[in-house]
Amino acid sequence: MAVPLLDLSRQYAYLKPEIEKAVFDVMENSSFILGPQVARLEEQVAALSGVPYAVGVASGTDALLIALRACDVGPGDEVITSNFSFFASAGVISRLGARPVFVDIDLNTYNIDPGLIEAAISPKTKVIMPVHLFGQLADMDPIMALAQKYNLKVVEDAAQAIGAEYKGRKAGSIGDFGCFSFYPSKNLGAAGDGGMIVTRDEAGYKRCRMLRVHGENPKYYYHFIGYNSRLDSLQAAILSAKLPYLQKWSEQRAAHARIYDRELAGLKDLKTPVVKSYATFHIYNQYTLASPRRKTILTAFSGKKIGHCIYYPLPFHKQECFKPLGYRAEEFPVSSQAADEVFSIPVYPEMTAEEQAEVIETIRSCVS
Ligand SMILES: *Cc1c(COP(=O)(O)O)cnc(C)c1O
Repeated sequence: MAVPLLDLSRQYAYLKPEIEKAVFDVMENSSFILGPQVARLEEQVAALSGVPYAVGVASGTDALLIALRACDVGPGDEVITSNFSFFASAGVISRLGARPVFVDIDLNTYNIDPGLIEAAISPKTKVIMPVHLFGQLADMDPIMALAQKYNLKVVEDAAQAIGAEYKGRKAGSIGDFGCFSFYPSKNLGAAGDGGMIVTRDEAGYKRCRMLRVHGENPKYYYHFIGYNSRLDSLQAAILSAKLPYLQKWSEQRAAHARIYDRELAGLKDLKTPVVKSYATFHIYNQYTLASPRRKTILTAFSGKKIGHCIYYPLPFHKQECFKPLGYRAEEFPVSSQAADEVFSIPVYPEMTAEEQAEVIETIRSCVS
């Protein structure tokens, strides 16, 4: 039985009337740019995150870029981030002329290892940017303590973690800024690109709002050079239609994860995800296993048309584009090991029990 890694058409099948109404409403009042749908989604995502302010932008990448700009990051500055993430987490730092400073990860969570951050701080450091990879928050308490000690800002890359919790606190609400992505494969996905920044800081909020419209305020007066990075009204309307389902979807993902955990526990050469006690709600944007026998398992998956993906095959310090940073391949042994062993399997809400059984059976046949 073929099992897709993700099948968005299944959710469209039951959301069709709500999504079509949302789209037609925007078409009818033709408020395509920063219409009331954007303001409404901003209020909803701020409330969901437990913060007063949110700014809708064109993508998760732009959310990170604009949040860093709001922290005044520019040439000569350093930003500390995880060595193991989606490219955008590091790319945005370089795009601002700043230097990404990579820190190795915890092999259990694949998130930045807080114990290694202090050694990476220099007089040039301005921001620490933890990534909440796969839907589990990074260990934020020690990160916030370091930020306070060295007077640094914290930008949470919460692209994979909307609605996830750390000790009962929501992703994006702990640092100075939290950044979400609405890329279609995220837990809350648009019909295209979209992103959002959340914050408690009123001045930071105002800067982000200006940065998404070229640095403008009021109209045709520019205080600094910003971007054209607005969340489309159409995307916002679709996202608001989907938002009431987000909690249920994330719980369904977590329920699938518990079944995988149980059925794949204790198998030789296979590591199931480790959920820390501080991760009071893991939203499983990905269910990520690790095995030194990954190749065998993925070959079996391909044979049976079971969807899978390696997030991520190459840590940042080994990427061609970051060669000028001067890192050596032997640095960051933990992220290198993760890159060699991890693979993610289907965990989307609408996956059926039969499909999940097929995935489990295929893995078992390879490693037991
Ligand atoms: C998806 C993602 C982004 C970027 O979001 P886009 O909306 O695709 O620009 C950034 N960081 C992480 C960790 C992501 O998973």
